Amino acid sequence: MSDVKVAINGREVIGKVGQTILELAKNNGIKIPHLCNDRRLKPVGACRMCLVEVEGQKAPVTACTFEITPDMVIETDTDEIRQLRKTILELLFYEHRGNCATCDDTGRCKLQRYGYEYQISDEAIKYAEKNSKASQNHTTGNDAMEYDLNKCIRCGRCVRICQEVQAVSALTFKGRSSNVEVSTAFDIPLNESVCELCGQCISTCPTGALYERHAKGKGQYKDLVVTRTTCPYCGVGCQMDLNVNPETGRIVRITSQRGCVPNDGNLCVKGRFGFSYVHSAERLTKPLIRENGTFRQASWDEAIELVGTRLREIRDKYGPDSIAFLSSCRCTNEENYLMQKIARTAGRTNNIDQCATTCHAPTVAGLASSFGSGAMTNSIGEIKNVQTLFIIGSNPTEAHPVIGLEMKKAMAKGAKLIVCDPRKTWMARHADIHIQHKPGTDNMLINAMMNYIVSNDLHAGDFVARRCENFKDFAANLKDYSIEQAAEECGVEADLIRNAARAYAAGTPSSIFYTLGITEHTCGTENVQNLANLAMLCGQIGKASSGINPLRGQNNVQGGCDMGAIYSVLPGYQKVADPAVREKFSKAWKVEIPTNEGGRVTDFIEDAGEGILRGFYCFGEDPVLSEPNQDKVIRNLKKLDFIVCQEIFMTETAKLADVILPATCWAEKNGTFTNSERRVQRIRKAVEAPGQARPDWQIICQISTAMGYPMAYEDAGEIFDEMASLTPSYGGMSFDRIDNVGLQWPCPASDHPGTMFLHEGKFVRGRGLFHTISFREPAEVPDDKYPFILSTGRTLYNYNIGNMTLKSKAIRQRQSKNFVEMNHLDAEQLGVADGQLVTVSTRRGKLTVQAAVGDRVRQATLWMPFHFVDQPTNKLTNDAFDNITRTAEYKVCAAAVQKAKSN
Ligand code: SF4
Repeated sequence: MSDVKVAINGREVIGKVGQTILELAKNNGIKIPHLCNDRRLKPVGACRMCLVEVEGQKAPVTACTFEITPDMVIETDTDEIRQLRKTILELLFYEHRGNCATCDDTGRCKLQRYGYEYQISDEAIKYAEKNSKASQNHTTGNDAMEYDLNKCIRCGRCVRICQEVQAVSALTFKGRSSNVEVSTAFDIPLNESVCELCGQCISTCPTGALYERHAKGKGQYKDLVVTRTTCPYCGVGCQMDLNVNPETGRIVRITSQRGCVPNDGNLCVKGRFGFSYVHSAERLTKPLIRENGTFRQASWDEAIELVGTRLREIRDKYGPDSIAFLSSCRCTNEENYLMQKIARTAGRTNNIDQCATTCHAPTVAGLASSFGSGAMTNSIGEIKNVQTLFIIGSNPTEAHPVIGLEMKKAMAKGAKLIVCDPRKTWMARHADIHIQHKPGTDNMLINAMMNYIVSNDLHAGDFVARRCENFKDFAANLKDYSIEQAAEECGVEADLIRNAARAYAAGTPSSIFYTLGITEHTCGTENVQNLANLAMLCGQIGKASSGINPLRGQNNVQGGCDMGAIYSVLPGYQKVADPAVREKFSKAWKVEIPTNEGGRVTDFIEDAGEGILRGFYCFGEDPVLSEPNQDKVIRNLKKLDFIVCQEIFMTETAKLADVILPATCWAEKNGTFTNSERRVQRIRKAVEAPGQARPDWQIICQISTAMGYPMAYEDAGEIFDEMASLTPSYGGMSFDRIDNVGLQWPCPASDHPGTMFLHEGKFVRGRGLFHTISFREPAEVPDDKYPFILSTGRTLYNYNIGNMTLKSKAIRQRQSKNFVEMNHLDAEQLGVADGQLVTVSTRRGKLTVQAAVGDRVRQATLWMPFHFVDQPTNKLTNDAFDNITRTAEYKVCAAAVQKAKSN
């Protein structure tokens, strides 16, 4: 954009072509009042508070809509303009009818602030107060938010954000003239509408007419202490502000600042309303030791001594590989760094893992083998400029909602959307091409697409020749995969596959997005390698907005992997098998690094059953709920000699433990998370931990010391510095450098700006490697006894095992019970109506849950979420594993379903 010279309030400033006066003023520190404007929305100039004078214009213009031109002369604060704004404000106060003296939103309400600034008349304020009625508080039918008509100035921001940013359109206006109010279509309660409870309407409301119900009466906004941190839920890593009442020490509400990276003030339902767990009465507050089959309270000294002694004894008696350490991707980089360090130093074993084995280990292995680096290649901020979005096995509007918003931005700009998903997700319903293929047939589909691309010379021959290797063998293998054969195997129309292949190959730029629909298969790593093949084949990688993007699930699963909480690598993916790497860490940690190959969590479960594993340190994970074939997991864990769980709640795994150590949650500690786009961001302590709960890094240090390897640090910053000194990709980072917007790795030096996208000019491994992938059927396919395919996944409202989200009343009100999605034609055949109970059974167990009948899933397919402790879907899933990463096939198993007797 070229520069434009403009004079504003007598000052000469430089703006950009296409910039509005409001944007220019803001960039130059000049405040222009406005009520209907939000940078996330298209400007409409409705409230007229931003009127300014422009030389040559007959009347004042709205600064939010008027674009600057060369040599424009602008005045923003003349007497006439101030008088006009005052009149507008007074009219708004007649409309507003709020009581400013008692409003909770004092400090947040812009109308009130402008009222004071422009000294509006007493009459206007008195009129507003006199006409304020308690009965104007409209219930929305949910426990998350309320709408107070008294305070509404009809600026329309809530309606617009619901349409323009969320693309949900739950809100609309009803009535005419002075009776206009915000409502839903057909005026139904918000909770019964299509509302997703994102609370974006609250975030944009300038007066507090829409507000968080739980914040009511908990302290005025202006008195709350605000701490910036990173969301504890998904891998998007949204920046958020914890608003804490300093008198009660409790979080009152969560907000987010417009302009923050990567979420620009946007949050989803989990981020905005899912924090009640922090202050839950169910939090663990004291160490517990099992005695005679029950838990008794213990002192920290006693508990630490017992844990250190038992782990040491088992290690010495049965060998180091008889103990295992499971780290937590909900926790910080510093804590994950220490967990792998304690395993390899005090434990003398490489038996260290975290939840990536459950989800994205195939990504780490697959992309590393193809490109040399196993992470998202591009940045969240680049998504809006993608021209062809290729989404496969991923449901971003529910699992990564703020990334979903970036995709919606790209769609609004005209991007083509291809979705390959066995379910009709939001994205699938809005796609240009939806391929609703049979679960487990991804490689058949991708191979056929690539065969079509090569056969029709749509591939990027020059890119392939310059930057890749093994193309010949790869291309020869594709010849076995015709479009017609794939259409038959995948159960879709052949033309859809052809069109998808053409659209992806032609996109400039195209980008692939995937999640667990790709990785959680017995061929998960091959699925990932094949997507890497597709990206290389079309040269759609190594450029802005063009690449392959695994959207990471847990808040810090990227960091957990980066920190080396993986059996085969030390921090920064430095291989344990490399003697030089071992020597480097041995020197730093002053101990021999073990050479034995360690195991993954799925190995731990197997080894526990066989008596190979004897001791287990489980930190912030609940394998009883998260691993497949639950009955077997419980059976095997019960055989262990000793289990210690470090947790914030009594989980299902903790119930089997010998010692439980009460830990701190994300709001109670300092540290860093690394989000899906490799951005390392700060988390900051905002509230005190309950009871005797301690920061996790301190607990790990104390256990290590008790095991005979002393560990001590001053704070999380010191741990980060040690980690960065040993991890080249984090080498240029420090708490100071990442304080503001974080930094994306690789960032090898203190003057390195971080890396937006990977593989520019050259792959990390040199040449990109084409893999020859053949289609394999899932481990368990339907038969006469189990004629359905059962697939599992995550919903918008809940998160993993639900022990955080389900503490929120607002979320529980939306979704508190398990269910199974089934196709209406199957339901009709079985005589099952929507909402009726059905029993789903597999070779491993059965569950009775409500049926959600519709067209979301294909015929002969079932889908269930896995968030519910009392109805655990993993009772049903198959413990068959990807042969490279041992990730379980959660996405496909054979199942039967029938109407439950209890209906
Ligand atoms: Fe948190 Fe993810 Fe929602 Fe952002 S999109 S608020 S990171 S759960």
